[in-house]
Amino acid sequence: MLDKRMKTRRFFSAILVVCVGIAVGGWNLYSQPGLTIPDWVVLYTLSGLLILVERFRIQVGSAVDMGLEDVYLIGFALVYPTNILIWAGLVFTVVSSARIRRGWFIQAMNALGLVLAVVAAKQMYNVFVPVSEPWRVSQIAPFLVFTGVFVAVNLVAFCITLFLIYGRQFVTSLYESFSIQVLAVFGIELLIGLVIAIVLQAAGLAGVLLFTGLILLVAWSYRDYFKMAQHFKQLAIKDELTGLHNHRYIHSKMDAFIEAKQAFAVLMMDIDHFRRYNEVWGHVRGDEALKTVAELMGRNQLPEEKQARFSGEEFMILLPDYDLSQAQLRAEVIRRAIEDNEFPGAERLPGKKVTVSIGVARFPDMADNKKDLLTMVDDALYKGKLTGRNKVSLYTSVLDEMKLGLQLGNEEQEIVKTIKVFLAILNSKDRYTYAHTERDVVYAAGLAEKIGLDEERIQFLRFGSFLHDIGKVEIPIEVLTKRGPLTKDEWLVMKSHVEIGESIAKPIPSLAPCLPIIRHHHERFDGTGYPDGLKGEDIPLEARILTIADSFDAMTTSRPYQRKRTLSEAVEELRRCAGTQFDPNLVEPFIEAIGEIGLLTEENVEDLA
Ligand code: GH3
Ligand code: MG
Ligand code: MG
Repeated sequence: MLDKRMKTRRFFSAILVVCVGIAVGGWNLYSQPGLTIPDWVVLYTLSGLLILVERFRIQVGSAVDMGLEDVYLIGFALVYPTNILIWAGLVFTVVSSARIRRGWFIQAMNALGLVLAVVAAKQMYNVFVPVSEPWRVSQIAPFLVFTGVFVAVNLVAFCITLFLIYGRQFVTSLYESFSIQVLAVFGIELLIGLVIAIVLQAAGLAGVLLFTGLILLVAWSYRDYFKMAQHFKQLAIKDELTGLHNHRYIHSKMDAFIEAKQAFAVLMMDIDHFRRYNEVWGHVRGDEALKTVAELMGRNQLPEEKQARFSGEEFMILLPDYDLSQAQLRAEVIRRAIEDNEFPGAERLPGKKVTVSIGVARFPDMADNKKDLLTMVDDALYKGKLTGRNKVSLYTSVLDEMKLGLQLGNEEQEIVKTIKVFLAILNSKDRYTYAHTERDVVYAAGLAEKIGLDEERIQFLRFGSFLHDIGKVEIPIEVLTKRGPLTKDEWLVMKSHVEIGESIAKPIPSLAPCLPIIRHHHERFDGTGYPDGLKGEDIPLEARILTIADSFDAMTTSRPYQRKRTLSEAVEELRRCAGTQFDPNLVEPFIEAIGEIGLLTEENVEDLA
């Protein structure tokens, strides 16, 4: 408040200075015709004008504005001698930098640079035109010299200022601050400077005052227009509730990065159990929580970071030039900030806290187009949701690993591509199966490590686990997602997925070790499973491992047709079926392994306690 009042006071004092200057000058001019105005009146007026116009930057385009100080210095320099410029420049420098508490030094440097440039330009000008000779518009060559020196000194002063601010990176910022528009603005400044010189000669200081009034009035009315344009521009890219950017903005940024081949990491963040928060506390409090989340996201935000509310309770962040581990770290900071914040009413949520899950992916190494990138980051987020929430998950694909690990030939690469398509189809048919596969890989590998299986076999077990349900791509969606028990015929169809899966993977010779895993993962230890009714150790070890992992995951997640069990219920069920459905020697190691993996949700861990 006080600050504003001080500003207004300063503003009016500057106007007063000018008015007094002009009044004295005018009086001088008209009361004693034939006499020239004394230098000190000019000095006084120029200082006042500089201080006044510094307040008005004139908007030239929506992104570029123009200072008028240069304009007045140029105009006065052409008509009046150097000593006036120096003194007026110094007064201006002192007043304009004293106004600013922080950054006054830079302000003083800028002002001094400007004064220096105009004084140097005038000195060079006087090499060609004697000081005693009055200025004329027709002296084009000396004016060009004047301009050249003014530009050169200004540029050097600008570089020094940039160097003081940015250190060695000043070249980059110089490059960034240069544009055609900046050049155009400079041209306009020179022209108005010329006009001021003409007005000065023709109508003296009073003329310049009138002219100044005109410029400021025009600038004033245009400012409103530019403000309005700016306002609409903001409306189009802002989210009203949170004040963050919106979906449209972040898409256009992503497009721009991809177009410019600029590498970037992308974070997709979704609030956990937010529907429940809304149900318990209502949408108004839900909206408050959304605002808080946005605010927490914005804390310690780096300048290059682009944040947006992507949709209802999903947010997106783009991190240009970040590698995956840096992006993960940034995501972790945000996740923790939200977890540590006390949201009112959070105790009614499953984890007793408001938390978020964040998926991470990167352009261009993971995907070279926006659609794939978004699918990946969404998959990563979804995986985080299904493996416990309140976590940062990187996009990883067993499929990509398979391509790298197996050094496939061209033909095999093609088949892997087909498998990828199958997986995408399966994902769209039944998202549950897809995410479930990812967890199976983790559980099965955990058990295999526990019992000391060698690296290579574990690798194939992971690939096999990943592909074990691929045959479901051929199962009709009605059967796949049916609520309630299947009919006998439907069961037959459902069971066929193991053989279909085997036949899909068969054409890739290097995947041969995975085939028995895919075929036999529904065999039971007592010989009553399918498709071959193998018994005991006749069932390949990897298939026995996968059976346990697969069943455990089915027990601990909700499916359309069954309630999910708590962790302790699932453990009990595993033990109950040891020897009938499962290999009894593997059940206890499995229970130990899942405890160590730590992939379970907090609620489940609490169940275990
Ligand atoms: P999950 O942990 O799986 O993310 O569960 P969730 O309940 O958060 O589910 P989802 O991400 O699908 O969230 C959708 C819910 O988010 C629906 C709605 O209640 C809430 N939501 C979406 N947009 C808004 C909004 O603008 N304001 C409020 N208050 N709630 C919103
Ligand atoms: Mg959501
Ligand atoms: Mg959510």
